[in-house]
Amino acid sequence: MNTLLLTPDTDPHAIATAASLLRRGEVVGIPTETVYGLAADARNVDAVHRIFEAKGRPQDNPLIVHIADFEQIYDIAAEVPPEAKALADAYWPGPMTIILPKQGTIPMVTSGGLNTVGIRLPSHPMARDIIRAAGVPLAAPSANLSGRPSTTTAQHVMEDLNGKIAAVVDGGPCAVGVESTVISLCGDTPRLLRPGGISLEQLEAVLGTVAVDRALREKIDDTEKVSAPGMKYRHYAPKAPVTVVFGTPAQSAAYISAHLGEHSGVLCFDDCAAQFPSGLTVCTFGRSDDEAEQAREVFDALRCFDSTDVTEIFAQCPPATGIGLAVSNRIKKAAGFHVIDLTEDKP
Ligand code: AMP
Ligand code: MG
Repeated sequence: MNTLLLTPDTDPHAIATAASLLRRGEVVGIPTETVYGLAADARNVDAVHRIFEAKGRPQDNPLIVHIADFEQIYDIAAEVPPEAKALADAYWPGPMTIILPKQGTIPMVTSGGLNTVGIRLPSHPMARDIIRAAGVPLAAPSANLSGRPSTTTAQHVMEDLNGKIAAVVDGGPCAVGVESTVISLCGDTPRLLRPGGISLEQLEAVLGTVAVDRALREKIDDTEKVSAPGMKYRHYAPKAPVTVVFGTPAQSAAYISAHLGEHSGVLCFDDCAAQFPSGLTVCTFGRSDDEAEQAREVFDALRCFDSTDVTEIFAQCPPATGIGLAVSNRIKKAAGFHVIDLTEDKP
């Protein structure tokens, strides 16, 4: 299959072309403010199967359904509690996915066999234009091969999926850079299933207490039942194994310097890069005091190791507050939760 690269900035027909492919049941890579999405008609079983096939995604890993206007939620969710309305008023359009009981219009293949569905109203104007032009809700997981770091540019999407999907729409680099926050309103208390562009603190400001899923902080066994199926899979990983070294930037840089081998690579903050020997593969992901910048750059930085010959990667990691919770979750998942914590009290 020849994958079209559509550029709305120079081609006035780009959005209409993407929409017509989507209506025909094709799969199209689309920009959103979080990461690029791999979109198809959420109600079309064959189209949704094509997403799973292109990504190599396990069938029990549900997709998020994207809408362009709040009212579309009533065609998708079986119930819309007041908490969902309050969250939407505060953070939609934006990087937040709400899990609600689903209607029969959304097939089981889209929801990974669950009776619930993740719904998001993105803020990227191009994403909303495409959804409106297609005239259908779009199921879209991140537009990467399963297990690889998510994609934050149209070029990343081409790297992973060229030849496997009908088209990619180039909307420039993503403004947020990590995936949406996933919050479930299906249980007794709201539960954070995945940290993302909207912080836990922002959710608590609207909802009061929010429970935090265990899978966010530690490795979950493959056989265990988890509330967000995506959280149990190896994810975001470069080809070489990653070790997270957590502490102050100075502590972690010193530890990494002392443990470097001949073929080590380093994922580090911009302001620590100069401390490592020249000739070493060093990929930076933003300044240590700017977690929004880290979110925008972390996936590109994780991807950069794959074009090198490093056999192990040491990674710095921000504290788990604000959007730093999402950044640290992605880096720890890339490392399979292999973390050396320099802040733990030593006996
Ligand atoms: P992706 O956009 O590729 O990061 O994948 C979407 C993720 O959203 C899934 O891996 C799940 O973690 C989460 N998700 C989507 N729908 C549901 C749902 N119905 N219940 C729980 N989690 C969901
Ligand atoms: Mg993903």
